Formats: sequence, structure tokens, C-alpha cells
Amino acid sequence: MAKILCVLYDDPIDGMPLRYARDDIPKLREYPDGTPLPTPKAIDFTPGQLLGCVSGALGLRDYLEDNGHTFIVTSDKDGPDSVFERELVDADVVISQPFWPAYLTAERIAKAKNLKLALTAGIGSDHVDLQAAIDRGITVAEVTYCNSISVAEHVVMMILSLVRNYLPSHDWARNGGWNIADCVERSYDVEGMHVGTVAAGRIGHAVLRRLKPFDMHLHYFDRHRLPDQDELDLGVTWHDSVVEMISVCDVVTINCPLHPETDNLFDAAMIAKMKRGAYLVNTARGKIVNREAVAAALASGHLAGYAGDVWFPQPAPRDHPWRTMPHEGMTPHISGSSLSAQARYAAGTREILECFFEGRPIRDEYLIVQGGALAGTGAHSYSEGDATKGSEEAEKFKPKLEIPAQ
Ligand code: NDP
Repeated sequence: MAKILCVLYDDPIDGMPLRYARDDIPKLREYPDGTPLPTPKAIDFTPGQLLGCVSGALGLRDYLEDNGHTFIVTSDKDGPDSVFERELVDADVVISQPFWPAYLTAERIAKAKNLKLALTAGIGSDHVDLQAAIDRGITVAEVTYCNSISVAEHVVMMILSLVRNYLPSHDWARNGGWNIADCVERSYDVEGMHVGTVAAGRIGHAVLRRLKPFDMHLHYFDRHRLPDQDELDLGVTWHDSVVEMISVCDVVTINCPLHPETDNLFDAAMIAKMKRGAYLVNTARGKIVNREAVAAALASGHLAGYAGDVWFPQPAPRDHPWRTMPHEGMTPHISGSSLSAQARYAAGTREILECFFEGRPIRDEYLIVQGGALAGTGAHSYSEGDATKGSEEAEKFKPKLEIPAQ
């Protein structure tokens, strides 16, 4: 029997909801390109309920314990005295979500002598030192597509919110004001603007499709070009480098994975090549952009706005400059953890576990590393190496336990 160690974010401050805002979530038939949704043999949870926090346990407890496995769920993940680090030594499987990542550094992998499977309940396995997983023959899998559309919706929301100056205007209303000039002095229409995505994978492509009806000019950079018909249908212009694309864009959205090629891609030099007054939206990974360079570009006015939900490390320390820089629209890492997305990645996690325990192959598109090499989606979208360096700073985070005023 196996030991499964699962790291999830904390429950709501007031405990698990007794009643949800909605009674159900839409039932989808498939992903937009026809890929089947997760196909576990069964699920033991109600879609639309909180699954990604400790008490939600991804709906896996009955399945795993009824099969005789040991299932440990914790949110205590950072530092040498954490439950995660303590329990890791004899765990066979680690499950973690990118929102509250259990960083599996080379040092931790070396301590985890029994580890065979690192499973990401979500998309993006950069919190695992992929090189160390390759070297140790550990399988790394994620639930490809489970929340790509959730993120694409979030990206569109953030672009509109930045360009139209929504959040500061909302603050004026909440605070009893009616200061229209203050609200609109930074407010524009997106119509006619040039928007470009770094990567046109599942999220980037979905963002382009969603922005087309806004009559924006669409651009993308990707290592592999979209099919001709796709480019034609979207009316999108391909660029053969990030630099070429960003120099013509009013809005840039980052939708590539974090791996050694993209680590610190948007450093001060790259940001300097963006148009003055451009907006940058990053829901991919915090480490793809340089934190000090972004804060400086907002302070100087070179960037008009920055929004996203991804930070490095996570949770971000209280003194992280993105918490206080001007013209930002940051949230904690939430875009891929809507209740709708949770139902899909919980089911996908269960599907992967069923395959693992029953000796059946894991879907190729779920694989990042297998058999000592990048595999499946990992072979297409990642490069070998490690992107976890610096993650120990997550230990500095101190939770804020008050509920923000509504
Ligand atoms: P996909 O695998 O569908 O797409 C990734 C795309 O990135 C591929 O088209 C890939 O290109 C491209 N890419 C890889 N390296 C580069 C590079 N160096 N330069 C340009 N493009 C590159 O994944 P998704 O679209 O579903 O997700 C993308 C990322 O978004 C995830 O890896 C994750 O980091 C992040 N994410 C964030 C979430 C959140 O909650 N904020 C939730 C889900 C994902 P190709 O394969 O053609 O080489």
C-alpha cells in the first residue's frame, strides 16, 4: 500500500461553506478541441464545491483510504520543520497544486527515497525540479487542459480591468466618492489596440479567440506556429521572437510555461523594449518576469499597468513589491482554481491515480516527465532543467487571518 502526501491551500478562514453561491456548475461535454474531459471510474465529491483546500482533499479521501493507502493532507509546506518536509521521506506520491505549490527541489527529492509520482492537480509543474525528477526516474504528471479556459477568462478580465481602469474606479465608488475625472484619467477602450500573447497553447489560443470580438489586432509568438487556417480564422499575426512582438503591442499577455528558457524572460531589458504605456498581464508564472523590473517600470510610467495572479515564490512574502506597486491588478494565485476548474482537476487527479495504482498508462497529454525524460506535453512545451531556485523564500510568508472588508 502506498503513502500519498497531498499539499493543499488552507480552508476558508470561517470554515467550509455551508451553502454555495450557486447550486451547480455547467456540465461540459469535452474540451474546446475535442479532447475528452477527465475520465476517472468514479468521483466522491460534488462538482462545484471547494475541493482544493485541506478539508476538500480533492475529493480523494474515500477512494484512497478504502483502497488501504495512507493519505496525508496538509497546507504546511515550507521550511525544514514543515509537515510536508517531515512526511516526504517515505511518501510514494506527492500531490500539489500550483496555487499553493509544494516545491519539490533537488534536495527534497533526494530525501524522498520512495517517491515515484509527483502529481500536479492543475497545470504547470515548474514547482518540481524537473531535472532532478528526470535523473531519479520519477513520473511528473499534470491535468492538462483542466483550467486552461478558466485562466483565459481571467486574462480577458484582467486586460479589460487594467485598460479601463476598473479597480481604482471601483475603489472610488466603495469609498463614497463620485470622482469621475480621477477614474477616467487612465481609462481607455481596448478596441483597435494591439494585443500579443507569448505562447499560443491552450490558454494563449483561447485568449486570442476571446479577444477577437473586441476588434483588437491580434499577435502571437510561439516556438511552433499555429495551423494556417487557425491564423486566418483568428486574423492573428505571428512573430518570430518575443522582442519583435512586444515592440508593436499595447497589451502583452504571457501564457507559456515556466522552464529554463522562459525563466526571467521579461527582465528590465525586455520590458524596456515594450511600448511606453503598454499593459502586461501574466497569469503564467511569476518567475517569468523580473519582480523588481516590473515594479520599476510601473513607477517610472513605462508600463501603464500590470496584472496577474502568479508570484514567486508562492505564497508571496508580505513585503513582495507587487503587493504595493502602482497600477497593479494582482490577486493571489486563483485564476485556475475556480470551483468549476476544481471539479475538473480533482477528477483528473483521480484518473491519474487510478492509472498509476492499476498499472495502466497515464494519458500522454498529462505527462511531463516519465522514464527519465521529458514526455507527452512536457516534451512539447518544457525544456530540461530546474526552475525552483529561490523557492525557499516562501517560508517567509506569514498568513493574514482577517477577512477583508466587503
Ligand atoms: P499548453 O501546454 O497548452 O501551452 C503552452 C504553450 O507555451 C505551448 O504552445 C508552448 O509551445 C509554449 N511555449 C513553451 N515554451 C515557450 C517559449 N520559450 N516561448 C514561447 N512559447 C513557449 O499549456 P496551457 O496553455 O494550458 O498553460 C500554459 C501555462 O499557463 C502553464 O504551463 C502554467 O504555467 C500556466 N497556467 C497558469 C494557471 C493559473 O492558475 N494562473 C493555470 C493553468 C496554467 P510549443 O508547445 O509550441 O513549443
